Amino acid sequence: LGGTITRAIRQMSKATIVDEKVLNQCLNDINRALLNADVQFQLVRNMQNNIKRIVNFDDLAAGHNKRRIIQQAIFNELCNMLDPGKPSFTPKKGRTSVIMFVGLQGSGKTTTCTKYAYYHQKKGWKPSLVCADTFRAGAFDQLKQNATKAKIPFYGSYTESDPVKIAVEGVETFKKENCDLIIVDTSGRHKQEATLFEEMRQVSEATKPDLIVFVMDSSIGQAAFDQALAFKQSVPVGAVIVTKMDGHAKGGGALSAVAATKSPVIFIGTGEHMDEFEVFDVKPFVSRLLGMGDLSGLMYKIHEVVPKDQQPELLQKLSEGNITLRIMYEHFQSIQKMGPIGKVCSMLPGFSSELMPKGREEEGQAKIKRYMTMMDSMTNEELDSANPKIMNESRSMRIARGSGCNVTEVMEMLEDYKGLAKIWSKMKGLKIPTRCDMNMR
Ligand code: GDP
Ligand code: MG
Repeated sequence: LGGTITRAIRQMSKATIVDEKVLNQCLNDINRALLNADVQFQLVRNMQNNIKRIVNFDDLAAGHNKRRIIQQAIFNELCNMLDPGKPSFTPKKGRTSVIMFVGLQGSGKTTTCTKYAYYHQKKGWKPSLVCADTFRAGAFDQLKQNATKAKIPFYGSYTESDPVKIAVEGVETFKKENCDLIIVDTSGRHKQEATLFEEMRQVSEATKPDLIVFVMDSSIGQAAFDQALAFKQSVPVGAVIVTKMDGHAKGGGALSAVAATKSPVIFIGTGEHMDEFEVFDVKPFVSRLLGMGDLSGLMYKIHEVVPKDQQPELLQKLSEGNITLRIMYEHFQSIQKMGPIGKVCSMLPGFSSELMPKGREEEGQAKIKRYMTMMDSMTNEELDSANPKIMNESRSMRIARGSGCNVTEVMEMLEDYKGLAKIWSKMKGLKIPTRCDMNMR
């Protein structure tokens, strides 16, 4: 997708005269790419109209920053589409919240219930799981297995066939135990059958959940909108979790789910394992969707945030793919010269989610300082090795002593380094733009 869009924009940039026809051609190419990424037809059309309204034609015709204007407009539009305008209900630690999960069979509900519970448990919550799926044989066993593995209390029955009864009993049991999260897993059907919706409605009415989460398989493609809408029309869905984002799914369905349910995406599932679960963050998601995680986008961001005199060197290093600790150090250095740091970092690949969570920029800034202090205690060999395996325990201890930190902090720094190196390594082999390319922006 990113490639197609980049190509379309480049094509337009090449045209000596950008008239309406050229812009339309570009927008048509972009539309095709978005449709291919499973963004719903109607949404694509709305977006096209918005972009035409936003993009100032005179600016384009004058030849200024054509790529930038269009790319930014698309990016912003997609971000807006993922923002339903109001946050979902957020449970609070220490209070009891009932969260009900709904979705078609196979969408990943049971897996996601456990991931959600496990995620909170790791943060010190007291979650619990209730299996109200009496439709599928083996459903309770599956939940029981997951829950046992994660050491999370669960409730269910092999003999009771009434899901409403089990749901109510389970919720009551865990309320008495003062669990702060009571997660109700429900059954799905292959199709959006009336019986499924009726059962779901009854469970919802009987347990009065604080939040109903719609779980959607990201690979369902263009069917996403209708499916999400059908669920929203039966029960008051308040949040969406998109699963299987690790596969070949293109992710455009998430936009449909938000549009249909008027609810935000709160997490995404990125694998079958318990910890393959990420807090959903709009901007990185859109970057990924647009393939801005691919080269042209990353290059573009670097041009914007890295000081001119350091660009060639940094790009050269990243393109060689040897992401050493020294490169991270130099990167931190250039970032610190720039401020406001939060803004700068949110534009750097890997920074917003890994090191600089939204709203916690100050914390992130302090962390970068601490990391640099630690790296000051490292030897040249350590800084220049792209093989993190050389960082054994005795080296970590020496660095901790030298920088006045503890070993856990050094390990944390190395973990963050690995995360960034992984993201940056995608830039390996990138083509360093010529001056001519850069002038076109
Ligand atoms: P349910 O019928 O809605 O309860 O769905 P399940 O939780 O049983 O999941 C169906 C299948 O999808 C299982 O094989 C899961 O392991 C798999 N699954 C769920 N979430 C993910 C995910 O994020 N990534 C991948 N790759 N597989 C997933
Ligand atoms: Mg299930």
